[in-house]
Amino acid sequence: MKILVTGGTGYIGSHTVVELQGAGYEVVIIDNLSNSNREVLDSIAKITGKYPLFEEIDLRNQKDTFRVINKHQDIEGVIHFAALKAVGESVDKPLEYYQNNLFSLINLLGSMRKNSIRNFVFSSSCTVYGQPDKLPVSEQAPLKKAESPYGNTKKISEDIIEDTVNTGIMKAISLRYFNPIGAHPSTLIGELPIGVPNNLVPYITQTAIGIRDFLKVFGNDYSTPDGTPIRDYIHVTDLAKAHVVAVNRLLKDQFKKDYEIFNLGTGKGYTVLEVIKSFEKVSGTKLNYTIVERRPGDIEKVWSDTIFANKELGWKAEKGIDDMMLSAWNWELALKKSKENK
Ligand code: NAD
Ligand code: UDP
Repeated sequence: MKILVTGGTGYIGSHTVVELQGAGYEVVIIDNLSNSNREVLDSIAKITGKYPLFEEIDLRNQKDTFRVINKHQDIEGVIHFAALKAVGESVDKPLEYYQNNLFSLINLLGSMRKNSIRNFVFSSSCTVYGQPDKLPVSEQAPLKKAESPYGNTKKISEDIIEDTVNTGIMKAISLRYFNPIGAHPSTLIGELPIGVPNNLVPYITQTAIGIRDFLKVFGNDYSTPDGTPIRDYIHVTDLAKAHVVAVNRLLKDQFKKDYEIFNLGTGKGYTVLEVIKSFEKVSGTKLNYTIVERRPGDIEKVWSDTIFANKELGWKAEKGIDDMMLSAWNWELALKKSKENK
């Protein structure tokens, strides 16, 4: 069966393509390579023994989107990762974010309708919860006003998908990711942040390897055990596997409602200092860091209620924080080695 994966050369997309091919699916990737590169296809082939089909187009272009999806008549389902995702950048460039993330979605859903493709999985985010009133946060929690244009694109996208499902033309699953980190155990694929990383874990590994001087820990005056914010970090391969489960659920008619939403997290929260401690332990490296002011827009704490996903999907995140940090470190070491060999 053929699955279309948009954003399939990106961080989470590439790991998901590996899992899909491992599960026997044929994959077509659409990506405009705005935040990834073509060599990822070689790495996927090295891991799985098979190249996915690849279409380099921009989903904002309606004609190209229609043309490519029409060309692959036998697509059974779509997983939609393609989006811009930098929270801070979205504050400076809201129109680019709304245009990219919403026009892409609308073009994609329109093309699916035209070709009677009925199964859709969407990359959403725990940002839609804002600072939840109750923790762990479950799928039933009320959504808060988005902290950024990026977060708002996820909220609006979920609405667009629900409204489309309500017309009866398709079924969909939105997956709300918590904080994906780490890399494939082969160290052939992983996260490739362009420029200075915004996220904690690539910043830690780049500091430890000498690319950055020190990590700034954004605030230690939060109401948490050590004063630093708490997040639910999830290994990217655990996350990728959940997408195969979601696709199977749609294709095998195992869904309970035409539109379903699942949290994807581990259910455990770690403070920034705990993440650093885990990194220092598994890497045997002392991290240079300093406490600075809070980062605007950061929430204090969030972790996932995993009961619904565990029960309904029969899926559970397996890797713990030490495994995740070791995998992120091995990826950074592999990147260094490959740069030295170039
Ligand atoms: P990524 O940037 O590594 O991958 C996204 C891919 O989409 C890139 O390869 C990019 O080139 C492509 N793309 C972007 N706009 C496109 C367009 N208009 N047409 C075609 N291709 C386009 O990001 P990621 O971390 O893999 O994230 C994947 C999805 O998961 C995104 O929707 C993101 O918002 C969501 N998400 C990510 C995180 C996270 O922390 N990484 C957390 C929650 C949700
Ligand atoms: N963080 C930090 N220094 C950094 C980057 C992040 O202290 O250079 C903290 C941030 O304040 C948050 C946590 O690390 O509490 C996770 O941030 P990240 O940007 O990775 O993910 P977010 O939860 O914001 O999506």
